Amino acid sequence: MLVGRKYRLVLAPEQVATVEEYAAICRAVWNVGLEQRREYRRRGALIGYAQQTREMAEAKADPRHLSVERTGRKRARAHLPKLGWVAFRWSRPLGGTLRSATVSCDGKHWYISFLVEIGTPAPAISLERGRVGVDRGVAVLAATSDGRFFDRSFITKGEAARYRRLQQQHARTRRGSNRRKACQAKMRAIMCRVRDRRRDFHAQTACRIVDRNALVVLEELNIKGMTASAKGTMVRPGTHVRQKAGLNRAILDKGWHSFELAVRNRARHRGVEVRTVDPAYTSVTCPACGCVHPDNRKSQASFVCAACGHREHADTVGAKNTLARGHAGHRAWRPRHQPVCEAPTSVNPQGISAPATAVGIPSAQPLGGSPSPSFET
Ligand SMILES: [Zn+2]
Repeated sequence: MLVGRKYRLVLAPEQVATVEEYAAICRAVWNVGLEQRREYRRRGALIGYAQQTREMAEAKADPRHLSVERTGRKRARAHLPKLGWVAFRWSRPLGGTLRSATVSCDGKHWYISFLVEIGTPAPAISLERGRVGVDRGVAVLAATSDGRFFDRSFITKGEAARYRRLQQQHARTRRGSNRRKACQAKMRAIMCRVRDRRRDFHAQTACRIVDRNALVVLEELNIKGMTASAKGTMVRPGTHVRQKAGLNRAILDKGWHSFELAVRNRARHRGVEVRTVDPAYTSVTCPACGCVHPDNRKSQASFVCAACGHREHADTVGAKNTLARGHAGHRAWRPRHQPVCEAPTSVNPQGISAPATAVGIPSAQPLGGSPSPSFET
């Protein structure tokens, strides 16, 4: 199985200059590739990924392979083509054979990522485990069908205040000035910390959700479409532009996509299947009786069924419906004599079309779900 390993580089000042130069060259190569694609498109032809990479490989001059060696308890170095030896912090063992290396910059630090073949095959999907639906939200990052909630804020109050001050300061600086550069570096440092915190939380949450399950069902989200600006055009200006901008910021701050990547990555390591389903009506369908009505969702957090009076946290309802939609045809194990918590979305008294789910699986009370949501952070 292929895994990634990322280490922070400890570069000498002249090496920093070199990697920055190479980053600029890579950007140029990327832009050439992009321009090539555009040129082909203008002529009505298409150039594929395979052809471009073939040309890239031909264009590459130095195919020397890389090597890594330990130089101390916490230090190691890697020999990279053209760059020579670069030192990095040995924060964890490689655990396999090297395939490739990538140098990248995040915030103020440079990193080296290795693609490593660890030699063990990807685990087979176990049927001795349960299954879970996940609802990603704006108020709470993730709610699961078993009634768990995962959320935390990634920026501290102090950092947010400091960031706002820096933004104001930035607005007062001149383009290209040293003050502006220093200001940008400080803002980058804050955002880098926020990103690290978010990434860490996503990875931990993914473990908690994925482990012990054989199937994880997520809603398919069109995040690009969802976070599109409501600004509109000069001729036809949009409405609720400020509110939409705030919602967009909230969606992007949660990092739904990178959370999905974390879930998929964990699932790959644990032999868990990840499915995505159409999220239409998952928030307004009653998990107890299947009634589909927009009035079912009273507010952001509360769901009260108009037909049967079923009460539950709205995000848990969304997660249950997501699971019900995604588990159809899945062979996952469940305890004998204990029905799986299902949402019978095929029952449709309101006449609004909702996708049919598996038939013949009994619906029942939630498995040990507590009525009041408990927050895990
Ligand atoms: Zn109901």
